[in-house]
Amino acid sequence: MAEDERITREMEQWRGKYYDGVAQLDRREKEWRQTENVLRQCISRLTLAADDSDKGLNEQLDRLRNAIRKNSSSADLEVLIQSLSDHLMRLDQQRRSRRMPVAPLDVLRRLAGGITFPRGLGHKAKAYGKALDAAAPDSDFQPHLQELITLIGEAFDWLAGQGGGEEAPAAGKGLLGRLLRRDEAPSVEAAPAAPAARTADDGVALAKSLLGQLLTSVVAPSEAGMAGITGALRAAHRAEELQRVTADLAGMLAQLEPAAPPASIPVSPQEVLLQLLERLGVPSELHDQVEAIKTALTVPLRDSDLEPMLGRIAELITAMRTRVQSEKAEIESFLQQLTENLRELDNNLQSAVAAHRDTVEDGRALVQVQVQGIEESVQRAQNLDQLKHVVQDRVDTIRRHMDVFRRSEDERIERAEREVEKLNDRLRRLEAESESLRGRIQQERNLALIDPLTEINNRLAYNERIAQEYARWKRYQAPLVFTVWDVDNFKKINDTYGHQAGDKVLKVVAKLLTSQVRETDFVARYGGEEFVILLPETELAHARTVAEKIRMAVEKCEFHYRNERVLITISCGLAVFAGDDEPDSVFARADAAMYRAKAAGRNCCRAAGDA
Ligand code: GH3
Ligand code: MG
Ligand code: MG
Repeated sequence: MAEDERITREMEQWRGKYYDGVAQLDRREKEWRQTENVLRQCISRLTLAADDSDKGLNEQLDRLRNAIRKNSSSADLEVLIQSLSDHLMRLDQQRRSRRMPVAPLDVLRRLAGGITFPRGLGHKAKAYGKALDAAAPDSDFQPHLQELITLIGEAFDWLAGQGGGEEAPAAGKGLLGRLLRRDEAPSVEAAPAAPAARTADDGVALAKSLLGQLLTSVVAPSEAGMAGITGALRAAHRAEELQRVTADLAGMLAQLEPAAPPASIPVSPQEVLLQLLERLGVPSELHDQVEAIKTALTVPLRDSDLEPMLGRIAELITAMRTRVQSEKAEIESFLQQLTENLRELDNNLQSAVAAHRDTVEDGRALVQVQVQGIEESVQRAQNLDQLKHVVQDRVDTIRRHMDVFRRSEDERIERAEREVEKLNDRLRRLEAESESLRGRIQQERNLALIDPLTEINNRLAYNERIAQEYARWKRYQAPLVFTVWDVDNFKKINDTYGHQAGDKVLKVVAKLLTSQVRETDFVARYGGEEFVILLPETELAHARTVAEKIRMAVEKCEFHYRNERVLITISCGLAVFAGDDEPDSVFARADAAMYRAKAAGRNCCRAAGDA
């Protein structure tokens, strides 16, 4: 509930503010219209009051009067007034040239009026303009000249310190246009052309502009009256104030009197300009330009020469400003390069090893402090040489620090190298150890595959080898024969001659089997008094021959025990790998064949499939 009340209250407040705003806008709009009417009347009266001896002027005045009657737009009016004021300016110049030479203070006035000072110097420039306006025509121009030179110097300093100026240059206008707006209304406060969207404030500004132009071109009343009206115009910010100014002006127009010729002048305009040139402090690069102007100033200056001469001096001042800017650009590019170098340095430090983080951090902090110092120096430096000096000092500091850093880096690298050497030593020792270990493992492994009694392959070795041979047979299908051997009546040998004699028999048999086959064949003790022989790449028929040869070799061997010959015989079963055979199935067939050999009386060979 309370929330609803709050919202309603707020809405009431906003509505009130809205209505107040609308009323204020209406009021200002009305004020503006009144001002505009007064202005139009005033302009109309002025056109009637003006001299009608000039044909061109009459035409211009007629056009303006018609435009006012037709209630033309302010923008159109301003164009007509501009053209009228140009015409009047020309007439005025003609009249002055007929009547009087140009006074030094006038030269200064026009020069100062043509310069648009940076906003930061606005009040100084205004004060200077006022002092010039207030100066008596025959007073000494020297202090004013000195003041103008100081002002120009400050404008340069100010512009250089502000990165080229406080506002973007107007389109189509160069530096000359920015610094020296000779073609525009002389007042620092001169308003721009009629804006597109007109408000009461814009209206006041426009009115000031129109009046300002009329005052400077049409009217030539007494200095004091002019100063009063100009001052009031500058101070006017509201429509009523402007109405008062216009009324005063109309009153003054009614009692127009021809302007009194100024008092005799102590010096010629070219002397003023020469002194200006002397004191401007133009750099030596612009010496030729200055000399050319000075030469032109050696001959007496006609009034018609004054405007082009002022233009040449204005260009000289512009060249000085351009030089300030190019010096600034040079400093900037120098600093940019420096900053890049420092950044690279910083990156190097950054990528340095973590072990030296403290040193690196110190280095980075130092670089940062120095860079900051450089930035401050740039702001304080009066000229490029001084700046380069300061920056060089900073860079030297960084370099000294870098030397220290590099030395400590070198030491660190040396330490690291020693460390690496030690590690390498350890690594080599470890390698040697692991090598011998590998050898021992291999030995162990070999031992593990050897039957200790007969010193031929044991059953483990057989298992490995049969897997390999079987895989090869599977892949290439080359003939592979498996044979199994069993010493006949071995139990009896053991029983008759003892176990040791039996062991010896096993050794002799193992040696015989091994000696009778090829390198590529494989002999192993399968267990007890049983042996196996694998015959790769061997047809069954050939295998039978080999088996028979082995059997006979055993039978023939002269084994003696305690001077008694002991007869040793052996029986053999053969099977050839075929079809879907696996090691076990072949073994089983060979084993069965071997038992058939036993059954057939022992000391003979039988192949699987034999009867
Ligand atoms: P058959 O002709 O049928 O093969 O008769 P056999 O006596 O050879 O067969 P049996 O399996 O009955 O006997 C094998 C004997 O071999 C039994 C066992 O004590 C003996 N023997 C097994 N290993 C060794 C061994 O390393 N050294 C010795 N000395 N005897 C062993
Ligand atoms: Mg046996
Ligand atoms: Mg046996």
